[in-house]
Amino acid sequence: MSATPLGTPELSGPDMQLRHLLLAYVMLTYAFTTSMWFIAGTWMGLSRKAASDWLRANLMAGLALVLLLMDIGLPRPVCLLLSSSLLILSSVSLRRGLQSFFRQPHAVVRQVLVAAIPTALNFLVWLPMGLITTGIVSSCLVAAAILVKVACDTHTVLAREFRPGTALAADVMLGITAFFFVAIAIGALISRFLPTWMPETDTVQTVLAISASGLSISVCFVLGYIVVMRLVYRLQHLSQHDSLTGLLNRRAIENSLDKEAQRLQRFGEIYSVMLVDIDHFKRINDHLGHAAGDEVLRAVATILKDHAREVDRVARYGGEEFCVLLPHTDHEGALQAAERLRSAVHRTDIPWQDEQICVTISTGLATAQDPDEPLHALLKRADDALYCAKTEGRNRVVASPARQVA
Ligand code: GH3
Ligand code: MG
Ligand code: MG
Repeated sequence: MSATPLGTPELSGPDMQLRHLLLAYVMLTYAFTTSMWFIAGTWMGLSRKAASDWLRANLMAGLALVLLLMDIGLPRPVCLLLSSSLLILSSVSLRRGLQSFFRQPHAVVRQVLVAAIPTALNFLVWLPMGLITTGIVSSCLVAAAILVKVACDTHTVLAREFRPGTALAADVMLGITAFFFVAIAIGALISRFLPTWMPETDTVQTVLAISASGLSISVCFVLGYIVVMRLVYRLQHLSQHDSLTGLLNRRAIENSLDKEAQRLQRFGEIYSVMLVDIDHFKRINDHLGHAAGDEVLRAVATILKDHAREVDRVARYGGEEFCVLLPHTDHEGALQAAERLRSAVHRTDIPWQDEQICVTISTGLATAQDPDEPLHALLKRADDALYCAKTEGRNRVVASPARQVA
């Protein structure tokens, strides 16, 4: 039997059966992973561009393997070089898919050149000159280099959006796949220059088919994990944020308040809460329309967020009411912060169409320093103070008298 690693020798009996089994395995694996990306792109709302690039990457890798295993009537050197070019196209598609997924710009011309130059060399230079090994080796090295570039480009963005572990898992998978391509190049060189060192063709092809399919499943698994994690993070974000202002919503701030209350009970760490209400907001809706009201809500939210400290948590508590949680802040500190926010809102003109809208806020403030005071009682004190601010003329801060610690 020939010692060419990627050759297709004449087979009969059990060898033929093994070849058919391998083919069926490869086709099933790639049909499964390809249909996964089809479903993700069409029904599951994954970026259509990313899904179709990953689908193409998968199809081309599968086709490359089928060409190696199946005799489709083409001369063997043509099949080998075609497979090698398909590996490059597959790597380029994988890269494009990740770029679409992370909304990075595509360098289309460079990508076309990276795919076209080695393919042109394969069929216009190496094939006529009979330098098939050169074609295989150069194509595999180009494909490996693309994967290493993908790993470098996506590492930071993956670590930022997900966890460093996710970025590492993607690096490892891409690194193993790149190493696999380098191994094929080394195998092709060995079979060319040291044919007696090569194992039987069947063994090489079986190892090749099984590892390539395994790798393909693993890469799909890592990509699928990234897709699902992004979905989970988005749902988490939606469940904790207000869609109009982008601030935390009531559920999220209530969770934070609960945690602060626990900290007060356990460590005696005091904190303050502000309830902020826009004055005469209904008038804006009535005179300028609901869209102007929405714009004012967004602007006030931005002012509050910009003038609060990094550690403070600002939330939209209800219609035109906001809640600001000030951890580790006593009565005096909270008063200063509330006054800073009030004056910032008062000083800012909010542009709306041809006019500028000026709004003011009233703030009710309460400081938690008694571990025995329930959270709802603290909020009631802040709400009562807000009511006082309204009745005393608005555009002011009223602090609830500090509750004495028992
Ligand atoms: P006060 O100074 O006493 O607080 O008067 P006000 O007009 O601000 O208070 P009121 O509670 O009477 O009106 C609040 C209005 O806020 C009523 C409601 O239609 C409006 N509102 C609540 N949510 C939204 C929203 O998401 N967008 C807009 N545009 N308006 C909202
Ligand atoms: Mg109001
Ligand atoms: Mg109100």
